[in-house]
Amino acid sequence: MTTGIDAPYEILTPDTAVAHLASRPALAGHIDTADVRSVREVGDGNLNLVFVLTDGAGRGVVLKQALPYVRLVGPSWRLTPDRARHEAEALRLHGRLAPELVPELYDYDPDRYVLALEDLSDHRVWRTALNDGLRHDGAAEAMGRYVAAVAFGTSVLGLDAAVRAGTLAASVNPELCLITEDLVFTEPYVDAGRNSVLPANEADAADLAADRTMVDAMGRAKWTFMTRAEALLHGDLHTGSVMVRAADGEGGPVDSAKAFDSEFAFYGPVAFDLGALWANYVIAAARATALGDDDRAAWALGLCTRTWDAFEAEFRGAWEDGRVDPRMFGDDLREHLLATWRAEAWLFGAAKMTRRIVGLAKTTDIETLPPPLREGAARGVLRTARRWVREHEVDSTPRRAEDVAGELLVATRTRSTSQQ
Ligand code: ADP
Ligand code: MG
Repeated sequence: MTTGIDAPYEILTPDTAVAHLASRPALAGHIDTADVRSVREVGDGNLNLVFVLTDGAGRGVVLKQALPYVRLVGPSWRLTPDRARHEAEALRLHGRLAPELVPELYDYDPDRYVLALEDLSDHRVWRTALNDGLRHDGAAEAMGRYVAAVAFGTSVLGLDAAVRAGTLAASVNPELCLITEDLVFTEPYVDAGRNSVLPANEADAADLAADRTMVDAMGRAKWTFMTRAEALLHGDLHTGSVMVRAADGEGGPVDSAKAFDSEFAFYGPVAFDLGALWANYVIAAARATALGDDDRAAWALGLCTRTWDAFEAEFRGAWEDGRVDPRMFGDDLREHLLATWRAEAWLFGAAKMTRRIVGLAKTTDIETLPPPLREGAARGVLRTARRWVREHEVDSTPRRAEDVAGELLVATRTRSTSQQ
């Protein structure tokens, strides 16, 4: 079976995915390659092919293959499949630092750009669970711990300087970073023909683009993103990049939460990953507010504090345990970093919010709302972004960020309803 996909390497089909397993000795311990009973293509993502293969004993392996273009758009938008290597290398390093917070990488085939991953079919993508009204408490804290483990462990604090330099050099990821630079930092303000909003939100998008304070702040945030190589970030840490599993099998507290899909990984500013999480919590809260569930909105906004507090505690703990060279890297540096990151999380959060409302890749949280409700939710998120930019240096506690967002989401709500 051929795929019809034009690529200079073999593209997997359900049949050849089985053959691929058998050809990779590293996978023999994870699945019975001679007894594969089912192959499912589950890729709901924007970029890649994802297959879940299961054997007769119920053991599974996931194969994720990078295509040479953006799946969401089609073959006209070429994109290096080398992003699979970036995902593999980030997963390997992150997996050493926080093994319970990422899927295990079993194998990477650099010729066909195929990762073999732990099967997380007993997890759910957090965003879709949130859209279903579930909570999975503990996931926000887990992601805070993940960002902290990576911030410490991949930076000059946790890696030998020469090792870090080599890791940094190998992780330069210009094509994927360019997507972020364009879609997150530039295009919400300078439309390249890929933006869209409801007619009722056109004035909101125009106001955003004309907001000089916002544009200037995003220019500074973009500069920081492109130049400050602090740690090997996830690079795309939204709620659709987190898999959750509740101990009760429903939506209760998690016994597992894992960050996945790290193909945007690169050495960048730590607060970018934090801001991505915060932005998506605000977007989840915007959905709840639009649906008239103010308790749930307050809960969703409260995830900002939960992630931050877990991040801070983990980072402080790593500093204590990590034998940081105390001669120049003392308490002053630690406090400076934490204060800088907390304020920058507001800025990067603002950047991530606006692109999800006006830019190319939107979120199901907002897009699945009926248009009359979506109008207010979109407006509330944009207004929150503009206020976060203005207030991030006033009182940068996440609690304050939540309060600002909460007020604006309610104030901009269109046609309140109580059904969910
Ligand atoms: P893309 O980079 O194309 O967005 P993702 O890594 O996000 O690809 O994967 C797309 C989808 O495939 C996920 O949303 C999830 O539903 C599924 N998936 C990805 N990795 C796994 C895994 N390890 N176990 C189970 N399902 C997975
Ligand atoms: Mg992806």
